[in-house]
Amino acid sequence: MKAVQYREVGKGPEVVEVDAPEPGPGQIRLKVTAAGLCHSDWFVMDLPAEQYSYGLPLTLGHEGVGVVDKLGAGVEGIEVGGSYAVYGPWGCGLCHACATGRENYCPNAAELGIAPPGLGAPGAMAEYMIVDDKRHLIPLGDLDPVQTVSLTDAGLTPYHAVKNALPKLRPGSTVLVIGVGGLGHVGIQIIRALSQARVIAADLGEDKLALAREVGAHETLISGADTADRVREMTGGRGVDAVFDFVGAGPTLETARAAVAVDGHIEIVGIGGGTLTAGFFATPFGATVRAPYWGSRSELMEVLDLARAGAISVHVETFGIDDAVTAYGKLHDGTVRGRAVIVP
Ligand code: NAD
Ligand code: ZN
Repeated sequence: MKAVQYREVGKGPEVVEVDAPEPGPGQIRLKVTAAGLCHSDWFVMDLPAEQYSYGLPLTLGHEGVGVVDKLGAGVEGIEVGGSYAVYGPWGCGLCHACATGRENYCPNAAELGIAPPGLGAPGAMAEYMIVDDKRHLIPLGDLDPVQTVSLTDAGLTPYHAVKNALPKLRPGSTVLVIGVGGLGHVGIQIIRALSQARVIAADLGEDKLALAREVGAHETLISGADTADRVREMTGGRGVDAVFDFVGAGPTLETARAAVAVDGHIEIVGIGGGTLTAGFFATPFGATVRAPYWGSRSELMEVLDLARAGAISVHVETFGIDDAVTAYGKLHDGTVRGRAVIVP
């Protein structure tokens, strides 16, 4: 089968021919119907050799949907031919976090060598993929696989961040969204669907700001050194009740710090390598900061239900698997509008 793999540190993704995997006991094989590209893939592929820990070759793709194609020994209660989304942050399944569906915060996964597909385990960017346990499959029902696949990360991750910040998103509140890419453009829709907050969105280019307005941002700004000042002007000096930083670089975190209101909240979703200094004299009184990771199983179900209700949708650019390298190039250059999806 064809697969998109990262095979050599520093060399970028390659489309290669590999053997189709066989499901072991308890596992499920999916015929992949769509796989999404995430900027985290570039985070992984940009790591220097001494920091790289995901194994080689790595089949990419931590956003996956597929049709159940073959069951490993002992798997029951799931139908061959059914269409499913893959919940990616696999945990041990036994601890308190996993028992509450928050496998993204499983404290045992790393130690047990359990890694998400595409981020250690073989991922979705192939014709077939293996899912370790049926609990990681969420039925798609009548949702379209290509339109839905990116909700497994670009939907779930902002949803998890927004849900945590919801107490701050009262009617009359204002939020700042930094970065209107794959995650950000879904994040804006989630904020609009779950709250009456006013949304200011910031990105580097006018095209991204146009997308932000299209998906529900009330106001937009070109992101730069004056963004926090502009946001303060737009909020009568108060600042914003919540910041969702989908970049996480030094300058955007400085914007977040300078733009957040007293008793406000910052969710650092992007892994752009920046550090935010918080403290009595560094951040407004009562302000809180959190760096969330992905989301829970039940939240993924809620995200799919939001899509079913028509409240959120992903702006998708599709590519065949042979064009995966081109798609990754566009993601790297910041020229994808919404999310890039591979249809194998
Ligand atoms: P993306 O490339 O699709 O979008 C990033 C957007 O940020 C682009 O529109 C880009 O123009 C914009 N941007 C870049 N620098 C900016 C700046 N200084 N100011 C304003 N906008 C700027 O990326 P994505 O796939 O949406 O991922 C976003 C970030 O979230 C990445 O860092 C990714 O690794 C991270 N991520 C984190 C988690 C998590 O669990 N915390 C999950 C998935 C992705
Ligand atoms: Zn991701």
